[in-house]
Parts: sequence; structure tokens; C-alpha cells
Amino acid sequence: MTNLLLCCDLDRTLLPNGKQEESPQARPLFRKLAQRPELTLAYVSGRDQSLLREAIRDYELPLPDYAIGDVGTTVYEIKNDQWHPWHSWEEEIAPDWAGHRHDELAALFTDIDTLTLQEPQKQNTFKLSYYAPQDTQHDPLLTEMEARLKSLGIQASLIWSIDEAKHVGLLDVLPKRATKYHAIRFLMAQKGFDEDNTVFAGDSGNDLPALTSGLYAILVRNARQEVREEAVRRVQEKGIAQRLYLAQGGFLGMNGNYAAGVLEGLAYFHPQTLRWLQAES
Ligand SMILES: [Mg+2]
Repeated sequence: MTNLLLCCDLDRTLLPNGKQEESPQARPLFRKLAQRPELTLAYVSGRDQSLLREAIRDYELPLPDYAIGDVGTTVYEIKNDQWHPWHSWEEEIAPDWAGHRHDELAALFTDIDTLTLQEPQKQNTFKLSYYAPQDTQHDPLLTEMEARLKSLGIQASLIWSIDEAKHVGLLDVLPKRATKYHAIRFLMAQKGFDEDNTVFAGDSGNDLPALTSGLYAILVRNARQEVREEAVRRVQEKGIAQRLYLAQGGFLGMNGNYAAGVLEGLAYFHPQTLRWLQAES
């Protein structure tokens, strides 16, 4: 029996909340996959715990074994519907902010007019999040912010992405190690998974580090074209193009968007999962 760890982004990766169509069989098959005892499922999302739970309920997704929330700043183990935060993960990322807290970091950027703080529930000790106009020239903005953070000895990553549905740019300031990718690596190390039995699936800018890290990774078909081009450019540059699967559609008669793309890519890397999907339940 091969144990697999499947790490999935939620919005517009498993959740069909983009403008493309979802194949009707996609989520029922995904639920069937999640029932397999060989599969360990982790959701990896920008959402906080309450929005994670809301998505799982509203979209009838299976409960995962683990959830990496708030763009990688929180990790939960889920047992019997109880969400247990991993404090060892907070201890891992705290040193990057060199003893500074959320509000002190926010004070560094109050004069930047393009930035609007996101709602309080989208902020936490190790997550400072802004909205910005979708067409913001984000490269010079990020460079300026990085310089200010460095002057305080803070190791941060700045993650720019776009909320397509709301037509707004999203900017997260996080401890350098608090990325989706590092949280996945932490989970793998804690639970004994390696590169051969871990797969990540995503769709957007904040998934790019994990998509192009050398982990086996799936880009769902509904991803934006510029994300697809950037992902391909990065894996080609690193010589690891064979580790990234671009969902095409056509798998089990589905269109490759959202959960269909995840299942398609998983079967490409781990063909035994096709048998799991075809087994009589
Ligand atoms: Mg997404």
C-alpha cells in the first residue's frame, strides 16, 4: 500500500469559484478519493480557520486530515472534526519577524496610499494583509516594502496575487518561512512523507513557489494564462519540468478545471489513484 499526501489549494483549485465551468463528476469523485485510507489530505489556503470550514461546508468537500491556513501561517491537525493548531509551526516561523508584531509592521507602510488593510479576521500575529488595485505596478511597490522591512532586520516574504472574482489585488506580508511551500515541507517532515509520495495542486500566484519547488505539482486547467507561463518558465529554468503537470481536460470525461484537474494530475503522477476512482464503492 502506497501512502500519498495530497496538498490542495482551495479557492479556484478545489472550489469551483472561478468563471470556468466545473464538470459535475469532479467533486463527487474527489470525495470518493478522499475516503481512501491510503490518502492523507491537506488543504493549503489563504483562508483562516472559519473561512476554511465555511468552504468545506458550502462546497461539500471532504474534511481534510490537515489544514494549512492563512497562506501558510497556521497549521491544523483535524481529528473527529476538532481543529488542533500546531504550535510547533508558530515556533518555527516566529524568529523571521525578529520579535516584531503585526501592528509594528503595519506602521511601516501607513504612508503608502495604494495599500488598504484587509479585514481584522484576515490578519493574525504572523500575517499582515492588504488590498491594492488590481492594476498596481506591484514590482516597485514590493521592492520598497522589502527595503523597509530589511531595515528592521525582518525576514519577510511578500506575496502578490489577484482575487479574480472581486477584481482586487491581494498582498500578504508573512514571515519568510511561513509560505504554503514551507508549511507543506514541515508537514511532510513531521508525518514522514517525502517527494515521491507528496503532490501539490494549485492555481494562482501564491501557489507558484510550491508549484515550481520540485514537489510533484499540478496546475489546474482554469489557472490564468500568465500563471501557467510563469510556472512553466520557472520549472524549465530549474530543469524540473517533468515535476509539473498542466491539467488538459479529457480525464474521465471531465474538463480539467478545479477538482477534475487535481484528479487528472494525481492519476498522471500516481496511476494507482485511477483504480481508486474506478473501484466499486
Ligand atoms: Mg487558489
